[in-house]
Amino acid sequence: MKKNIHPQFKECTVTCDCGATFTTRSTKEEIHVESCSECHSFYTGAQGKHKKTGNIEKFNKKYNIKED
Ligand SMILES: [Zn+2]
Repeated sequence: MKKNIHPQFKECTVTCDCGATFTTRSTKEEIHVESCSECHSFYTGAQGKHKKTGNIEKFNKKYNIKED
């Protein structure tokens, strides 16, 4: 039986432009990325949406709407 037919995966350090680093499994030892979950525009945009829930609460209070 032959072993190591597939490339060996090792601990990989991923470095992002924003300064965040995290580790993953890859055939490479180091990967550099331009965006990650910490700074990705979609991720930060999703966080911004949560701030708007305050307006919905005010609306519900004004019209006496109770959420189930
Ligand atoms: Zn990042």
